[in-house]
Amino acid sequence: MDLYEYQAKDLFARYGVPVLPGTVATTADEARAAAEELGTTVVVKAQVKTGGRGKAGGVKLAETPDETRAKAEAILGMDIKGHTVHKVLITPASDIAEEYYFSFLLDRANRNFLAMASVEGGMDIEEVAATKPEALAKVAIDPIAGVDLAKAREIVAAAKFPAEVAEQVAEVVVKLWETFVREDATLVEVNPLVRDPQGRILALDGKVTLDDNASFRHADHAELVDVAAENPLEAEAKAKGLNYVKLDGQVGIIGNGAGLVMSTLDVVAYAGEEFGGVKPANFLDIGGGASAEVMANGLHIILNDQDVRSVFVNVFGGITACDQVAKGIVQALGILGDDATKPLVVRLDGNNVDEGRRILAEANHPLVTLVDTMDGAARKAAELAAAN
Ligand code: GDP
Ligand code: MN
Repeated sequence: MDLYEYQAKDLFARYGVPVLPGTVATTADEARAAAEELGTTVVVKAQVKTGGRGKAGGVKLAETPDETRAKAEAILGMDIKGHTVHKVLITPASDIAEEYYFSFLLDRANRNFLAMASVEGGMDIEEVAATKPEALAKVAIDPIAGVDLAKAREIVAAAKFPAEVAEQVAEVVVKLWETFVREDATLVEVNPLVRDPQGRILALDGKVTLDDNASFRHADHAELVDVAAENPLEAEAKAKGLNYVKLDGQVGIIGNGAGLVMSTLDVVAYAGEEFGGVKPANFLDIGGGASAEVMANGLHIILNDQDVRSVFVNVFGGITACDQVAKGIVQALGILGDDATKPLVVRLDGNNVDEGRRILAEANHPLVTLVDTMDGAARKAAELAAAN
């Protein structure tokens, strides 16, 4: 889960990372009131989960409450890279002497954590990385040893922070590492980390990605979810404990096991080329125990997706035998009744496949087509989606 800037900075504050106070506003009047309360020049910042807000006009200085109102009015509702702005952060404007860049991230390629730091921060860190890679220090972090003050000093030295701020930055780096580890983040980024004219270091922006796989040990992270911004089908799937991701195609996909579902997406996209570019409509892994209830929940979500024209159920019987899955499908269709309206292509293989196919053949449901191979079933599902 990605956090909004204001949420990221709330977390930072808890770990002692220096940030400025701020108020979130959803209307121009609230923004005005927040500026009045602060009684100083403020920055009005669009809260969207994408970078480059500054460049897109989503970060504006305002000297008076009335100006804050006008700037918030302009920013609220703005579209930034496909994200509509529903909230703005009103925060005291800081004078900036220098802008730096700092991040901790999960370095998947090297199966390690990585610190990245640069004294050339601000908006264009991607450009710095591309055109002046020597200006972006990258320091690998031993996950067992972590980041103590000595390690932080090493990172700060590698990035050539000016001597007068080096120690302060190192202390902030240790606190950012604590945020990263204790909150189970996969990314903690500060751009810009600034030095103000008085020589203080401040995190002016914050980007945090939390690892959803660790949410079971962070009950408080549930509050960070922006329910209104979530896709309703994804929210329903989450509530039912299903692993669902909405995509933009027309063939609904249900499979058991993430690997099988991933390859099903590929096979459907490939088969769909023949039918005018039909594509998978979602990722849905129903996991090991494909019971009738789980199957019904999965089908319910997929059949409620307006974009879905056909459904491909691709199950490999392992721990759960195919006859159980077949019974699950038949019962699920019974549970759904008239809600089941779109053609289903079913491919079963593996443990007890003959019995599974027999059960489906015997049920002879008008919406179900049984196909023996994965490629054949993908082709059939794509064909039905194109025809529907
Ligand atoms: P981003 O473009 O989405 O990364 O948004 P940022 O929060 O990083 O803001 C973009 C830029 O706006 C920063 O690099 C700063 O140059 C500027 N900015 C943000 N906050 C302030 C502030 O408090 N005072 C001043 N003077 N500039 C700011
Ligand atoms: Mn930024």
